[in-house]
Amino acid sequence: MERLGAPRAEQEPRCPVCGAACEWIYLYRGYDPAGCEECLKRADAWQWQRRETCGENR
Ligand SMILES: [Zn+2]
Repeated sequence: MERLGAPRAEQEPRCPVCGAACEWIYLYRGYDPAGCEECLKRADAWQWQRRETCGENR
């Protein structure tokens, strides 16, 4: 049985990286917490690659 909705008493899950309350945590290689939906952003891989090859670092 899946638990839908945590009981009130249970503490809200927080991201170990940024500390924000979050629903999802992303795991680097499935193990190490890399962040949550609050502190991680998805980027277009093509754009990112172009930026890397251009040597333009933010
Ligand atoms: Zn986070």
